[in-house]
Amino acid sequence: MNSFINLCYLVSAVLFILGLKGMTSPKTAVRGNKLGAIGMTVAIVAALLDHNVLSYWWILIGLVIGGGIGYVWSKRVPMTSMPEMVAALNGFGGGASLLVAVASYIESQHTPLFASTPDWSIAMIASVLVGAVTLTGSFIAVGKLMGKVSDAKNVRLYKALVKLCAIVVLAGTVYFVMHPANAYLLIGVLGLICLLLGVLLVMPIGGADMPVVISLLNSYSGIAGAATGFILHNNGLIITGSLVGASGIILTGIMCKAMNRSLTNVLFGGSLAEQGGGVSKSESDAFYDGKVKQADADDLAMILDTASSVIFVPGYGLAVAQAHHATRELATLLEKRGIKVKYAIHPVAGRMPGHMNVLLAEAEVPYEQLIEMDVINPEFQQADVAIVLGANDVTNPAASDDPASPIYGMPILEVHNAKTVAVIKRSLSPGFAGIPNKLFINDNTLMVFGDAKEVQQRVIAAMNDL
Ligand code: NDP
Repeated sequence: MNSFINLCYLVSAVLFILGLKGMTSPKTAVRGNKLGAIGMTVAIVAALLDHNVLSYWWILIGLVIGGGIGYVWSKRVPMTSMPEMVAALNGFGGGASLLVAVASYIESQHTPLFASTPDWSIAMIASVLVGAVTLTGSFIAVGKLMGKVSDAKNVRLYKALVKLCAIVVLAGTVYFVMHPANAYLLIGVLGLICLLLGVLLVMPIGGADMPVVISLLNSYSGIAGAATGFILHNNGLIITGSLVGASGIILTGIMCKAMNRSLTNVLFGGSLAEQGGGVSKSESDAFYDGKVKQADADDLAMILDTASSVIFVPGYGLAVAQAHHATRELATLLEKRGIKVKYAIHPVAGRMPGHMNVLLAEAEVPYEQLIEMDVINPEFQQADVAIVLGANDVTNPAASDDPASPIYGMPILEVHNAKTVAVIKRSLSPGFAGIPNKLFINDNTLMVFGDAKEVQQRVIAAMNDL
């Protein structure tokens, strides 16, 4: 039976890897997701065949309650609240590892002739500590994403407290590994400190950096799961936890690279505005004063009527305005008039990786029209019109020509190279980085102020009247 169970875990591991591979392209993502789900079903069935299971009733009750909540929740959650859901699920994963580790510890202490090996003790304490940090850290991230928890102001105080907690946790961990028997109090105190540590670590991080944090916490939940796998001698859990841990850290790295920021800067640097990015209203007014050219929806409709190629550049504002369906409608109208349409996708446009891909896929934009930054950048020169929809930082030329800018070095969409640039946003307010955008004062840029959805609807109406 043991060999059969391990064979099932191997099959599920292969399915997980194929599932992850499928996620690398929007075309294969649905199939990848299904393969992952089949892999998880195989792993669950294998775990249930384990001879250590004494009664199936508790498991069944848990499956029905947990599965039921998960089903209803995932059916109801709007696409824009996906990051909150992912963060909460990471938190539950960490919490589960914490509880299983504590239960296993209690059980081990009731085993006659308890004897531990250092690797068992390390896995035990890692599961408790990483699980606890993941649990509270994730729920602070959920609160920030929902706008219920604001960014902590005194970053230095938080840093000092984090250091203090880390020293205590390190010392306690070493002590536990050396004296693992009857350490209930020590495990309890370390667990509580790590619950606090999760809060202290996430509180000072800027709300807009939460996707990076969530990706990192996702990795932590995998590490905690893998550690629990070592405690339970469950190969399936070890493999799954390791895959989650590794893929989470890789995604975190990709996001940091796309923002040209180090992970240390995201985690301990405070929000970008605090790092010198934020400019005052008067500084911003002086920057734009008399240099901005304004146009309205009718003007844009006329420009589009004479264009032969248009590139849409979606950003965070498109998601806020839920303007993706209007964009698709406008694009279809342009295509019917023989105008070539493409979408330029920046890796960190929006507030989570793949944010724009997911939104546009929801509006049934064909995948082939979503072009990644490196491929689309040389094409801006040939484009008649680039329509920037609620994007800001990802189009700011300061990222390539102003070394003093907080976003200097971040690769951008070279929208400014298009013959005409129409920027649709509500005002001259900055984006996430809190800095003015040189693009808005370029000679070939027209600002069309208003909500991205409403403006596009007006452009569609105006084009239909032409
Ligand atoms: P930005 O945050 O730079 O700008 C968004 C713009 O949208 C704002 O300037 C705002 O201007 C506009 N906007 C808001 N609401 C509306 C609306 N209803 N209609 C029209 N416009 C609207 O977005 P980008 O996508 O350009 O850049 C993403 C930023 O987020 C980058 O700095 C990136 O580093 C950061 N980030 C991204 C992550 C990711 O994984 N994607 C993770 C962490 C950070 P106004 O108020 O005037 O309308």
